[in-house]
Amino acid sequence: MTSLLRILRFAPQLNPLYLGIAVSSVLAALLSLATPFLIGAATDRIVDAVAGRTGVAEAVTAVTWLAVAFLAVEVAATAVVSVGGYWGDVMAARMRTVLSTRYFEHLLHLPQRYFDTALTGRITNRLNRSITELTQFLQFFANNAFTMLITTAAVLVITGFYWWPLAVLLAVVFPVYMWLTAKTSTKWQVWEGEKNTEVDVASGRFAEVVSQMAVVRAYNRQEHELAGFRERFTKTVGLTRTQSRFWHGMDAWRRLAMNVVFGLMYLIVFVRTAQGLFSVGDMVILLQLMNMARQPIFSMSYLVDSAQRAVAGSKDYFAVLEEERERAGGRALEAGEVRAVPNGPAEARADVVEGETVPLPADVPAVRFTDVTFAYDDDAARPVLDRVTFEAGVGEKIAFVGESGGGKSTITNLLMGLYPVGDGRIEVFGNDVAGLDLAAVRGSIATVFQEPFLFSGTVRENIAYADPDATDERVRAAAKAAYADSFVEGFDHGYEQIIGERGLRLSGGQKQRIAVARAVLKDAPILVLDEATSALDTRSERLVQAALEELMVGRTSLIVAHRLSTIASVDRIVTLRAGRVEEIGTPAELSRSGGIYAQLLQLQQAGTKEAKRML
Ligand code: ADP
Repeated sequence: MTSLLRILRFAPQLNPLYLGIAVSSVLAALLSLATPFLIGAATDRIVDAVAGRTGVAEAVTAVTWLAVAFLAVEVAATAVVSVGGYWGDVMAARMRTVLSTRYFEHLLHLPQRYFDTALTGRITNRLNRSITELTQFLQFFANNAFTMLITTAAVLVITGFYWWPLAVLLAVVFPVYMWLTAKTSTKWQVWEGEKNTEVDVASGRFAEVVSQMAVVRAYNRQEHELAGFRERFTKTVGLTRTQSRFWHGMDAWRRLAMNVVFGLMYLIVFVRTAQGLFSVGDMVILLQLMNMARQPIFSMSYLVDSAQRAVAGSKDYFAVLEEERERAGGRALEAGEVRAVPNGPAEARADVVEGETVPLPADVPAVRFTDVTFAYDDDAARPVLDRVTFEAGVGEKIAFVGESGGGKSTITNLLMGLYPVGDGRIEVFGNDVAGLDLAAVRGSIATVFQEPFLFSGTVRENIAYADPDATDERVRAAAKAAYADSFVEGFDHGYEQIIGERGLRLSGGQKQRIAVARAVLKDAPILVLDEATSALDTRSERLVQAALEELMVGRTSLIVAHRLSTIASVDRIVTLRAGRVEEIGTPAELSRSGGIYAQLLQLQQAGTKEAKRML
């Protein structure tokens, strides 16, 4: 229940709506109470007329007025219920918006580690389910809870007024029924949880399969994927059988208990009417009130059930919200630090505004790692990076070379602040990254990932991802620098061409050049380049290479090298072996030293495939 209250705290803007809904349901409940009395009064008039105690014309006039009153009450009730229903819908939609946005906002700030293990499909599925259950409950609660409570309380008081034992009987049936419902629902929830797990796992796999359909087809695994999916869902059928047998069994007992009590109450009313203690009108009023009480009792069981689902849903929801966020805060980089390109040929970059560049002292490196030790897993036997120390001077091009899994990408991950550094220190322009605002650190780095991920949308939106307000000129200039302009201009819609989810409608080389254009547009002083390992055709590779060369001009570049051709032109190479820095030097120095780089060169000259395999 506390988690439900937490949900309500999220949505202060819903308060006026909630109040409006509460008022309308109270009014609706009060209005509905008038009907039994109007019909009761009409019954007494008719009985009197039939018995000859009053004239027929007199009775007809009286019941006509009562019918008019009934109509007026119903019109008012309909208006109130409609307005309340409308507010309920608006509230539910707002609640969904608030809850979903809050969830997404939190996800956007969770550490990268969370996404290494979480399954996308599961995250989405869980979000949808939690939020649907929460909003359904809140809407149902807002629209019905007050009505139910007021009707039940009023029926209790009124029946008690006629003859108190009737009220006592009602007062007994109500809590017994609720207690049985709560008991049933608790057990029911356990099975529901198991079913949800099956569905979550199946949905997680479903999302993966849909996004990797070509792989599934290439390996003829459609049947296998389908079988796994079917199995999960079939399990939910088994669970539903158990769950439903239990639920309906309990429901039968609940209804029986309730109907026994109600049967007794009907009997009492009939007997007392026969004895002349109640008038026929009173009997009609009581019968209708009792019928009115049955409905809220049934609905109340739905409310209890829906509340329990909502509680379970809110647990899932808060489990994500309680995940600790990425480190926030820290010092922003100064404009001069971010833009610093003292050694680079600034004039070669048309986009550098004169006077904006504040040179730093030449001896402050753009990036410095000092004794950085890191493991993705806290209890890993040996760290992924072991006392890694190197620096990249401003404007320098540094390549990382070493066997696959040696920790090259990890270095760039740490630089971008994707994972907190274990031991040691990482500096950007002389500032300890640990004390800097993560957004500032990331703002000073443009990254071209190994897998050029593009979003569904237009070419323009993808290139201008770092700055959606970028002018068309800047977008075009970035595309030109990345050698993407000619093929983009060849599209039917040019920069407005929709490139489909993940850029599936583009070739590998085209995707990469768009990704490079995106980095060009970001115009950051530090460049991280995780070279694509996928083989591109020679022409594409040359173009991508040329685009990258252009991008590196005037920027400090950290290159995770997968091709020896790239490395030849860098200023320095850092070779890594099992997470340790083996050598640092110029390509010329390292080619003579006999280390990994020299070995790779030799292998390449010998024409073996070994060289390719090692990087
Ligand atoms: P390289 O780029 O040199 O090929 P990586 O830096 O990608 O190497 O990986 C170094 C080691 O860290 C590998 O053993 C890899 O399995 C592990 N690793 C990489 N990324 C993750 C991650 N997100 N979670 C856990 N382990 C990882």
